[in-house]
Amino acid sequence: MDEHYNCQCSCGEVKFAVHGRPLFRAFCHCTICQAFNGAPYADITLFRARDVAMPNPEIVEYKTYRPPPAVQRGVCVSCGRPAVEFMDIFPMPKLVIIPSANIRDAALVPDPALHIFYNSRVSDIGDDLPKHNGYWGSQLAFGHKLIGAILGRK
Ligand SMILES: [Zn+2]
Ligand SMILES: [Zn+2]
Repeated sequence: MDEHYNCQCSCGEVKFAVHGRPLFRAFCHCTICQAFNGAPYADITLFRARDVAMPNPEIVEYKTYRPPPAVQRGVCVSCGRPAVEFMDIFPMPKLVIIPSANIRDAALVPDPALHIFYNSRVSDIGDDLPKHNGYWGSQLAFGHKLIGAILGRK
C-alpha cells in the first residue's frame, strides 16, 4: 500500500492518513456498534479531526445512527465494512473515530482505556479496564476521558 496512507478499510479501497497522535482507544458494546461492526463490540481509536486527512467522500457512505447522537458512521462502498466515523459535538473539537483494525501503523494504536455500554455486552470481558454501563454512565465516562485526552492528561 502507498506509504502516504496509514489507514484503510478491510478491502483497501478506502485509504486515508492520520498525521497526529491518537487521543485514546475504547471498546464500545452498544447495540449500534455491534450491528455496525458485525462484532460483539467496537474497538475504536479517536483522533482530532484536524489530524486526519479524510478519505475521498465518493467511496464512503455515511449514515447517522442514534444514540449516541452526532456520529456519522462511514462504510466503504466497496466492501461495506466500517471505514471511518466522525463526531461533531459542540463545544468539543471535531473528532474522527477509526476502527482500530483499520489503522495499519501499530504505533498509532494506543492501549485501550475503557469499556462503554458494557451493560449491552455479548459476553463478559476479563480485563482490568474500567467498565461503564448505561447511556449516561457511558457518555460521562467517554466525555471525561475525552476532555482529559484533549487537555493532555493521562
Ligand atoms: Zn473496503
Ligand atoms: Zn457504540
